[in-house]
Amino acid sequence: MRKVTLGASGIVVSELCFGTLPLGPLQANIPPEQSIRLIQKAIDAGINFIDTAEMYRTQPYIGAAIKDRKEEIVISTKSTAATYGEMQKSIEKALKELGLPAIHIFLMHAAREKADVFTKREGAFQCLLDYKQQGLIKAVGIATHTVETVAAAADVKEIDIIFPIINRTGLGIIGGTPQDMIAAIRKAAAAQKGIYAMKIFGGGHLLDDIKGAYQFIRTVPGLQAYVVGMINETELVMNIKLFNDEEIPQHMLARAKKDKKLVTLSFCTGCGQCVKTCPNDALSIKDGKAVCNQANCLLCGYCNPVCPQFALRIV
Ligand code: SF4
Ligand code: SF4
Repeated sequence: MRKVTLGASGIVVSELCFGTLPLGPLQANIPPEQSIRLIQKAIDAGINFIDTAEMYRTQPYIGAAIKDRKEEIVISTKSTAATYGEMQKSIEKALKELGLPAIHIFLMHAAREKADVFTKREGAFQCLLDYKQQGLIKAVGIATHTVETVAAAADVKEIDIIFPIINRTGLGIIGGTPQDMIAAIRKAAAAQKGIYAMKIFGGGHLLDDIKGAYQFIRTVPGLQAYVVGMINETELVMNIKLFNDEEIPQHMLARAKKDKKLVTLSFCTGCGQCVKTCPNDALSIKDGKAVCNQANCLLCGYCNPVCPQFALRIV
């Protein structure tokens, strides 16, 4: 597994980062013991970079998985905290759940927020900087889906790391096209930010052409590492092969797609756009949220682009 240094932070990580969102209760809800074993297998295979968030509720799994090998691993976590006090609680919780003396990367979790996030959440950001000053966080930054926030973060000198969304078809990108996001990433790279990408397979919707999706993100200048969510060993082995430029057996590609299902995330507003779009009558609104009848769902992915919240995922 190739290793890279994230911008000017000096933090060295594997290009492939293990994304733990799909393991947790928000998505596939894999049992904790199984999740811990999978994370350990990823580490054994050379992945030293793991992404989580307070919201994902997977920090305890990671803490358990790395307890005997903390020195080898880089953890990135994030919080939606808006105030100084809330961020302080998030950081203390992460230190405890991860069992670490210091957290490598701590981000403002700001998926849909605009460039004014640094003033709107000034207290939370200041808290991250204070913990960094004390040596309890090594690098700070922001996770975002919006083009303008990536461009704005490039101008914030205290930001070490930017975690933008980018994929071949632009799924989930807010405020621009893939090319607009690439321009913002390029600007951030010129400012020496550490940059790793999220949703490179469009939340699972680009798995029909995984190689095409992979080849696309490899051409984006300035990206240093790539987070991929994984929930089983087949996906782990397949992604390692992909990032090692090895051939992926056909049966593995077929299985990756076969075991998938469509899930709705908690921030669905129940607007109903996806229900109108689904050609297979698989979606309906129940208790104010979209729910999927898996028996009818063909995993075509048509519903994902119409969702204004990017609240649908194939996991
Ligand atoms: S389009 Fe998105 S926000 Fe609207 S109901 Fe469907 S999943 Fe929810
Ligand atoms: S993936 Fe396709 S079949 Fe499944 S809910 Fe979305 S639009 Fe309907």
